[in-house]
Amino acid sequence: MVQFNFIRCEAFGGSMSVHYKQLVRVTAPLLLLAVTLSSCGAIQPIGTTPVSPIGTAAPSPRTGVAANPSPSTPASASAPTSSAASSTAAQIDEQVVMAGIQETLDLYAEAYNENDPALLAQVVDPSNGPMKRYVRTKFENYQESIFGGQGGFSYEVTAITPHKLGFVIADVEQYGLTGKWTFREVNGRWLMSEPTRREIGKPRKVETEHFTFHMYDWTEDVNETLMQQMEQAREQVRERLGKVPDTKADVYIKPTFGVGPFTGPTTLAFYARTYQARDRIVIAAPNSYVFPFYDASAGWQADLQMTLTHEYTHLANNRSFTPIARMSDWMIEGLAEYVSDPLSAVSRGVPEAVASDEIIPIMDTSGRIDKQDLEHLTILERDVSLAYGFATTLVEFIVDRYGGLDGFWKLVQVYDKRQSLPAALQEAFGVSYEQFDREWRDWLKETY
Ligand SMILES: [Zn+2]
Repeated sequence: MVQFNFIRCEAFGGSMSVHYKQLVRVTAPLLLLAVTLSSCGAIQPIGTTPVSPIGTAAPSPRTGVAANPSPSTPASASAPTSSAASSTAAQIDEQVVMAGIQETLDLYAEAYNENDPALLAQVVDPSNGPMKRYVRTKFENYQESIFGGQGGFSYEVTAITPHKLGFVIADVEQYGLTGKWTFREVNGRWLMSEPTRREIGKPRKVETEHFTFHMYDWTEDVNETLMQQMEQAREQVRERLGKVPDTKADVYIKPTFGVGPFTGPTTLAFYARTYQARDRIVIAAPNSYVFPFYDASAGWQADLQMTLTHEYTHLANNRSFTPIARMSDWMIEGLAEYVSDPLSAVSRGVPEAVASDEIIPIMDTSGRIDKQDLEHLTILERDVSLAYGFATTLVEFIVDRYGGLDGFWKLVQVYDKRQSLPAALQEAFGVSYEQFDREWRDWLKETY
């Protein structure tokens, strides 16, 4: 099962590209949701593929990602304190609020199980336009997906934390995964809601040695952790690539679905660059609706850490090495996975695909227009997650057999000039594309 990765959006007379890290081990039909890019002004369902690299049984309606054996799980699982609780919030009757939220969650699940938009409308704060749109679009995309109508949804609220502005953050569980959703009391009922742009106030800038963070007080319970994780990501990229930009990177902590750059459901973070503005990394707040459900024992930090390292690799690649607009898709994403996740190829199903001789080609030479190959990784219609895995193996193969990362950059630099892989392989490594491809396939069989 895949999510989405990379959108090239020609808008505003310029070009904006957004790099999403591919979520792995996603087994959720709910992830078959539209990713929209507001700057395009249109909703674009992005390539989704019902193939799970970890061989899940029947598809089950789960939201979010499964446990991830992250090499670097911060010690503390997420446990937002209630320091932000207002005096009013502190006085709320926890049992009553949890019962109210559970009632809303039951309705929400029933709306999905019965494919009933009228029920769905009852669970959302009617005064919050973006939230209504978010919930409805997510619902419609699910129902229209191949998983639509299967039913089996249920949610359970397991804890609540009073937050600012009368909101409550609820720990919501589904099939063993946890999400943090915000609710507000509206006419005696606890509904899915988030603060509006006006309520949330203005962002503030926090300058650190390596970053300029743009954040809101709304997310003050996680801001510090996210800043540390970003620093850790930079350090990991520095260790693996040998250099990172001296210049500060802009990082936006997106507080809610409706505030900040547009993101679709199940977004952890992404890297975006435009010709008009500096590139930046956007992180979805873990307490917002777009952040995917996670394994509570690992905490929300685990998947996010790898994603931030992946996104910062794009930034470092673009600023300190070769502009990513001049690179092939597999080079960009393969490198980001190589740096951020040592298990990428395995967790994305490469061993199974190699065993069954379903290797995604580097270049699709069949002549078809919609190329199914690693050079078009980010616009593939299917097997996108697997393609990320194979892209990672290409980087590993070059590192192993063609002179380490120096060899990789040598190829990238020649490719930058030639914009042709066969020509670049010949010039950089003195091999034909056919020979390189054969060697890579042999190496895959030996290695995976
Ligand atoms: Zn990426």
